[in-house]
Amino acid sequence: MSDDVVEVNRVNATFEIRNSGNGKGLGGFAKRKILKGEVIVAEPPLLKIPDSAIGSLDEAMHFANTEFKKLSEIDKKRVLSLFNAFPERGVSGIIQSNALPTDDGGGLFPTLARFNHACNPNANQSWISKKNEQRVYAVRDIEQGEEIFYKYIPALFMTYSERHSVLSQHFRFECKCMHCESLSQNSDKKAKSDSNRSRLASIKDDFSELENDPEEALSLLREMEELILEEGGHEGELAPFIYDTFVNCITTPKYLKKADGLIQRAHKVLSNCLPSFSLIIFCSLNFFLPPSSSFPPSLSPHWIIFSLLRPKY
Ligand SMILES: [Zn+2]
Repeated sequence: MSDDVVEVNRVNATFEIRNSGNGKGLGGFAKRKILKGEVIVAEPPLLKIPDSAIGSLDEAMHFANTEFKKLSEIDKKRVLSLFNAFPERGVSGIIQSNALPTDDGGGLFPTLARFNHACNPNANQSWISKKNEQRVYAVRDIEQGEEIFYKYIPALFMTYSERHSVLSQHFRFECKCMHCESLSQNSDKKAKSDSNRSRLASIKDDFSELENDPEEALSLLREMEELILEEGGHEGELAPFIYDTFVNCITTPKYLKKADGLIQRAHKVLSNCLPSFSLIIFCSLNFFLPPSSSFPPSLSPHWIIFSLLRPKY
């Protein structure tokens, strides 16, 4: 085990990095019970790659190599110890295998990179621009000794074969997460899950086309919530669509009350999923408040929540 993994394990009371078994390499495991909403790791990027630097594969590789050379010897060792699905691409292969999105491109987070993928994960990752850090937080209670997973792809909106194809192409591994393993042993269950996730993808597309149609938005939101629950997803997945429904309701006077209810619901979803995160929103995003003349006073205080829920499909 590399020195930085030993160090990560030494300083963390919440999780440890150790062998995951089944050929998955290392993974993150809960050292104690972790409660839903708890931040498990918060890590600044060791190396950032802006969208503007990724015009072509050659450009991206050149930029990655240049940035890598600027690192200290210790940090270079940390990067080189990470999994590389594309060894023929050198350092840029490591970045491609492990980078996570930020608001203007991607970044390498050596500790977060140790966590494995699952199609129904018990954690989620999120870039916090104001703090310049990527966070992993629990989306449900995680028991001591349980492996901590987040998703590398939008798995809830992809069928079994779509997920396996993308993971194989972009990360060169075959997903053997608990969800996929249970589906591979039961064809009826797999067909049902595929049907649900295809429908979720279709609803997501429908939402992007909707404009000033509160009834349809509310109906789609209800269906989406049922499907997400059936698929074992977490309520945070619904947040961008609550925002879309809100936008459709706010333009029609008779739906303003519904819009207010949606705001409160979004607050509840965020508070349940990530309490510390929603507190940051309340404290730091006041400039997102809309002109008070355009919104009923009862709606305004919660508007700031929605600045964070803008769809990021
Ligand atoms: Zn899977």
